[in-house]
Amino acid sequence: QVQPQSAYDVIVVGSGAGAMAAAVVAADQGLSVLVVEKSDKYGGTSAISGGGIWIPNNHYFAEKGGNDSFDKALTYLKASTDGKIDEERLRAYLEYAPRMIHYFETRSRVRYAVAEKYPDYYQHLPGSLPGGRSLDPELFDTSLLGDEYDNMRKPSPTTLLMGCIAWTARHAHKAMSREFGWRLMILGLMLRYKLDFKWRRKTKMDRRAALGASLIAALRRSLMDRNVPLWLNTDFRELVVENGRVTGIEVVQGGQKMTLQARRGVIFASGGFEQNQALREKYLPQPTQVGWSATPPGNNTGAALEAAQAIGAATDLLDWAWWAPTIKVPGEEKPRGIFAERAFPGAIVVNGLGKRFVNEAAPYLEFVDAMYREHQKDGKSIPAWVIFDGHYRFNYAMGPLMPAQVSPDSRLRKEWLNTVYWKADSLDGLARQIGVDPAGLDATVKRVNEFARTGVDSDFARGGNVFDRYYGDSNVKPNPCLAPIAKGPFYAMRLDAGDIGTKGGLLTNANAQVLHENGQPIPGLYAIGNTSASVMGTSYPGAGGTLGPAMTFGYIAARHLASNV
Ligand code: FAD
Repeated sequence: QVQPQSAYDVIVVGSGAGAMAAAVVAADQGLSVLVVEKSDKYGGTSAISGGGIWIPNNHYFAEKGGNDSFDKALTYLKASTDGKIDEERLRAYLEYAPRMIHYFETRSRVRYAVAEKYPDYYQHLPGSLPGGRSLDPELFDTSLLGDEYDNMRKPSPTTLLMGCIAWTARHAHKAMSREFGWRLMILGLMLRYKLDFKWRRKTKMDRRAALGASLIAALRRSLMDRNVPLWLNTDFRELVVENGRVTGIEVVQGGQKMTLQARRGVIFASGGFEQNQALREKYLPQPTQVGWSATPPGNNTGAALEAAQAIGAATDLLDWAWWAPTIKVPGEEKPRGIFAERAFPGAIVVNGLGKRFVNEAAPYLEFVDAMYREHQKDGKSIPAWVIFDGHYRFNYAMGPLMPAQVSPDSRLRKEWLNTVYWKADSLDGLARQIGVDPAGLDATVKRVNEFARTGVDSDFARGGNVFDRYYGDSNVKPNPCLAPIAKGPFYAMRLDAGDIGTKGGLLTNANAQVLHENGQPIPGLYAIGNTSASVMGTSYPGAGGTLGPAMTFGYIAARHLASNV
């Protein structure tokens, strides 16, 4: 057992992907590093995420003949962030993101592959690409973690094939869109799992991790390779500041207060404040609920934000989150994000008036932003309701409901009826059950059914670009995101204005240094990930738009700490 030291060159607060990336790079720079994590598991939201990172101009895409460039990506990011983010930070991101991932690929256990078909989210903006900037983690063998396997935050079984088999985002997309060879692919994954008798004696979970769990396991193993200590159950409370410089932190561990010295500096990587109801009410648009967030309960409560504010740190974007609609399922510790299903043909989303108010296939951030905008006008759009028919139900999933051809209503949990889903023989009956205006819903469905026939959604242009169609059903013509709602029974599910983390936080510069309200960097203090105000501003330019910057600015912060003696 290593005795706790009290002095390190760098202390990283939090153990998500950005935190561990920063710690790996700082250790490689010859610095002594400590990672402190408040919970009894490392990995944070990063561990239960998709693990995707958005890295324009990356080498994986280039090696496959992809055509991207710094300038193209800058054009796109400037358009996405609408001139609201300091260009120096945008440039730093675009310059260092490809270097960061190349570094991890060659020096650590982290392995990615390009998701060539995953389009940027804003296809209408200049510089967008139809694929090649989002990277998807390769599978990682978690037996390499030894005993540290038990301390890792485990992914939700809902992200695993049949609740236990690891599959990448590329696997999942191939199966969902029924690409050539998808059945064989699933068979291969199942066989590999079944034949791994040795590991299954230890746990039902696959030996391999995918998505965010793969990333976190690979980073944790990389820290182990470097003997970097990671203290669990160590709760950051206060900054230690001497002559205007951050020189350490106060933590509570096992009920004991401890002061830890950080000779070079502290990197805050402790997530946002999405798990703090009081801060949500203070900063986020209303109504807002901790219980709508798809992030691990209790973890990210904004202690770093408040401690830095107390010493004069500047903040930005505090009224924003990485919005995503969520569905609460009884018995599950957190709600589920509804990322893909809104684009499937035959499901629409309406407000209490029975009216559509957004392109259902829009990126999740824009979707919930539209819920808030509409709610301000009518007070009836939070929650919103996703409506679909028997045909949809048979063929496609919606949140926890697997397609009825796999999991018919008779096999669904009894308590889900009227809590997770509502069901009626007529649209009118359904509308009355959920308190939606029946006439409004009737008119909307008639209109959408006409759009499905013509293939053109003249209200919201759903299915009108390659991003919408990524999750569409290519077998459905003329528009893969539109199908009539006509065949009973009819179903409804409640969508809350959820999030996958907050987006605003401490204002940082291109070196990831936290800025004081006077515009100067606070010596010794850095912030990355959701503790910092996002470099993406109020936008979500592509899949991996939160973890890509978290890791990149972790890389930048560590190198800056090493060079800035
Ligand atoms: P976290 O990963 O949450 O790490 C913060 C850590 O700090 C936690 O472990 C927490 O316990 C710890 N901590 C908090 N307070 C303290 C304290 N006082 N002292 C010590 N430790 C503390 N984003 C993407 O870019 N790509 C994706 O594919 C993607 N998929 C997602 C899928 C889902 C289902 C969800 C929920 C999110 C997804 N996201 C994705 C969003 C992404 O996971 C988060 O934005 C990201 O993980 C935030 O990283 P972070 O390092 O800021 O925080």
